[in-house]
Amino acid sequence: MKLPSRSKSYMIPEYSLTGDLLSFLTCNLQYRYQNKGTLPPSKPVQRWFGEFIHGVLEEAYLEWDLHNKQFPWDWKTDIRPIEDMIDVRLQVEGLYPHDEDLFYSLLNSDLTIDELNEHDHKKLASARAEKAINIWGPHLFPLIDSSELLIKGIRQMPNYEENVSRSNYYGINGVVDVLSSIKINKNMNQSNLDNYNNKIIEFLKKDSRFSRQIAESGDGDEYEIIIDYKGMKRPPVKSNKINNPWENHKQQILTYSWLRSQQENSKPIFAGIIFYLNELVPSKEDLLLIQEEISHDLTDDGIDYSQYADDVELIMNWKEDDKAPNLSEEFKIARSIRIINIDENEIGDSLDKFDNVVFNIESSLIKEIKGCKIQDAWAAESDERTCSACDFKTFCKNNSVKSKDIKIP
Ligand code: SF4
Repeated sequence: MKLPSRSKSYMIPEYSLTGDLLSFLTCNLQYRYQNKGTLPPSKPVQRWFGEFIHGVLEEAYLEWDLHNKQFPWDWKTDIRPIEDMIDVRLQVEGLYPHDEDLFYSLLNSDLTIDELNEHDHKKLASARAEKAINIWGPHLFPLIDSSELLIKGIRQMPNYEENVSRSNYYGINGVVDVLSSIKINKNMNQSNLDNYNNKIIEFLKKDSRFSRQIAESGDGDEYEIIIDYKGMKRPPVKSNKINNPWENHKQQILTYSWLRSQQENSKPIFAGIIFYLNELVPSKEDLLLIQEEISHDLTDDGIDYSQYADDVELIMNWKEDDKAPNLSEEFKIARSIRIINIDENEIGDSLDKFDNVVFNIESSLIKEIKGCKIQDAWAAESDERTCSACDFKTFCKNNSVKSKDIKIP
């Protein structure tokens, strides 16, 4: 008697918006080593700060929701205990801050180097957490409907080929930092925001496309807004061809909005908001990049820089060894918030791009499964900053990386 053989297991590959899409676009080969090879980076500072600020804001919101604690919060008594809790949580995951990068730079302080020590000064991460909570918390927390919301969807595998492709579908997932539900009337007064001067609503109202949508919507209609935090500075509008964070972040929000629209309880999504939290306390490196972007006209048109002529002048006249320029709070706030319009055509384009990324990942994986060497199956291309911090640069086939590191005395 012939025993029936077990059917092949059916597996749908799952891709995440941040872990896969953004990571693969940063560098295909680095993504392969870090994600598919599950090799964590040796100095995951960027990841530490991203996780830290997300964790702190999430806990701060829960604390506010529970006790309705009034702003501003005191760093030592209200915020530091939350930071400690998140730091311990991250240590359990093997994530540690990189001390020299996280010192609350002398740039932003009246202290001298001798006055600083490990315990009684605020580090850069803390300074940003404090500003994020005290500047955006009073406006953001009352708008939160749910936080850390996992959203999932399924799509057809791009260019599916029987017996070649791993599956005919792929899963797509993401975690929305904050989902906000707003009932809008023509005056933009939300019932729970009556008499509340909400800065986020003010920024939304200033956006021309958003205002048009309000004009076209009916009184009392309910909409959702997707909000994402980034532990980084506002990216330039143009970037090198390999990796363009400005576009990638927009694509992430548009894809989130498609995923959210697939869920049963969703309402129409009106807009996305990204908070670039480093802008609230820019580091020396951030300031140098902002200077470069302003001088090369790489800033986006979401900010009217003519309104901030004094701040622009301070930045352009600032020298690396000077103390931090005394930028206005308004300028830092304006640079820390980005409104993304949700447009059906653009959602379609973003999904096509996601399909394309999945197709490229799958193609590289299949090449590797068929015996191709890792470095031949995955493209090694990235920008100079990513390469110089990359753990794999010593054996990476991207020769330009190595030649940059060789210093001839
Ligand atoms: S050195 Fe650069 S090109 Fe090579 S793997 Fe790292 S990020 Fe990619």
